[in-house]
Amino acid sequence: MITGAMDRGLHVIGPVRPSARPRSAALFLDRDGTLMLDRAYLADPAGVELMPDLLPALRHAMGVGLPLVVVTNQSGVERGLITWADYEAVAARLSDLLAAQGVQITLTLACGWLKPGGTGETNADHPLRKPNPGMLAEAAKMLDLDLSRSLIIGDRWRDLEAGRRAGLAQGFLLGSAEVVVSANRDFAVTLLNTPGASDRLRDAITAAARPPQIAADP
Ligand SMILES: [Mg+2]
Repeated sequence: MITGAMDRGLHVIGPVRPSARPRSAALFLDRDGTLMLDRAYLADPAGVELMPDLLPALRHAMGVGLPLVVVTNQSGVERGLITWADYEAVAARLSDLLAAQGVQITLTLACGWLKPGGTGETNADHPLRKPNPGMLAEAAKMLDLDLSRSLIIGDRWRDLEAGRRAGLAQGFLLGSAEVVVSANRDFAVTLLNTPGASDRLRDAITAAARPPQIAADP
């Protein structure tokens, strides 16, 4: 288990299970506004408030053996508004609250950078920062994931766009305010506040956990 900043821009907690099944899919999750209330640049663990809506889906994912991977932009680090120690305290509190609900995150990646090289400019484009797919690609290497069968849930277009760019199977968007990612018929996006969306998420999780079918000989 790795814990701590690998470099100034990428922070890693986990994996809790060092070897997921080979070529497992994963359920990628945004953190702020998805797992917990979005309190910008939160440094105080007392401010962590769990969002309950996804908990049944997260428990279902665990039940079918799908690793849960959190990918979170934490530009407050480069902005100087939070430290990695602050971030770790918040992450630990979130982990405790999730554990009390029967949910264990397999791996958590956070990008503390905005610009490549961390120049402090506000125009974000670090390759690890969503909407870029860098954190998802790093997680795939760490857990030997099959991204093409994996899913992402987030509350911002950046989350879904990162999923599309990483080649995931599909995404689920919380809330309704944000209009979605570049059109791509290979990447479906479901709005979770629409009728039937929770069932669709559950079905997608079940399907993602299934090993890919090997074509039978003709
Ligand atoms: Mg968010």
